[in-house]
Amino acid sequence: MARIEFENLAHSYKTNPQQPSDYALQKIELTWRDGGAYALLGPSGCGKTTLLNIISGLVRPSQGRVLFDGRDMTDLPTEKRNIAQVFQFPVIYDTMSVFDNLAFPLRNRGMNETDTRKRVLEIAELLELSSDLKIRASGLSADIKQKISLGRGLVRSDVAAILFDEPLTVIDPNLKWLLRSKLKQIHQQLKLTLIYVTHDQIEALTFADSVVVMYDGAIVQVGTPQELFERPKHTFVGYFIGSPGMNLLDCTLEHDNAVVDGQHIKLEAGLAAKITTSGGELKIGIRPEFLGYAQEAQTNAINAQIERVDDLGNYKIATAKLGTQTLKLKLEEDAQISSGAGWLVFPPERLMLYQNGRVVE
Ligand code: ADP
Ligand code: MG
Repeated sequence: MARIEFENLAHSYKTNPQQPSDYALQKIELTWRDGGAYALLGPSGCGKTTLLNIISGLVRPSQGRVLFDGRDMTDLPTEKRNIAQVFQFPVIYDTMSVFDNLAFPLRNRGMNETDTRKRVLEIAELLELSSDLKIRASGLSADIKQKISLGRGLVRSDVAAILFDEPLTVIDPNLKWLLRSKLKQIHQQLKLTLIYVTHDQIEALTFADSVVVMYDGAIVQVGTPQELFERPKHTFVGYFIGSPGMNLLDCTLEHDNAVVDGQHIKLEAGLAAKITTSGGELKIGIRPEFLGYAQEAQTNAINAQIERVDDLGNYKIATAKLGTQTLKLKLEEDAQISSGAGWLVFPPERLMLYQNGRVVE
């Protein structure tokens, strides 16, 4: 296992990059803790695969260094890095049996047959492949082939890290849930450094102790699922994580208040004063879970229009309008709320302020 560090890393696929948009990865400084379980979360095209390929050596970064336990790996080829990588689609040897596929990475490293057999049986058991070991891989379904790929990634216990690039895309939803919990279990047993790429927030949040959120070639936040939920450092994290995502409203500032549609919403004392550069887009953010509703005026409440209320069984989602801007509230199933005029309660300690997408704090 290893601690992996990115030092002043950036990557462009262009030979002569000129502007930020020419870069698939903007400048990144980051340390992946030895033995950490990370999810790398972000929309399609934000640079997740590029980042993994830089760790494994399939891509050489155009700028900066990659270190494993302090050793510079930037110019070392993939074979010398001791990384296991599992891709989105199965990479297996069709002509070999399932057993031989799983054994391949071990035999390749010179492990003896007794130990190889023992380890293959263990991994096969874990992934529920034990009854398929003698079958040739070519005839198997995409699901099973991908389980073999996972197994090939997990079979070696001496790797620096295991990288998973959206490995469950081709897997049936029921099996997905099972495999995800298996991976978590394997991580707890082996204490491997795991980096798991996904664009699915549920997958990321259930799997990882630490979630690295990427957006447009940059890392916008690294945090626990709870931190990402409670204090998104970037508006992208706010609306990408959570269902529905964070409410984000254009605002101006007046002393300790955000002004939205002519109404004053109290911020935490001193927050507005933390803005040091003028200009740029200002937004306040509040999670639908933290936004309150009242039938009458009260502290920190402003007047709004409730447009609709949807009863979703164990909770209610209300849609409110503040001028032209729309907000969502997530309320208890027995909350008393109906369409028409009402009051939205903004607890100052739950209200975030963003300038040009970044949190003010
Ligand atoms: P993700 O895995 O998050 O979907 P990628 O790392 O695959 O993102 O891609 C990041 C950006 O780099 C995208 O704009 C993509 O089009 C571009 N890109 C990826 N691979 C290559 C390549 N081999 N050559 C040129 N551009 C690429
Ligand atoms: Mg990708």
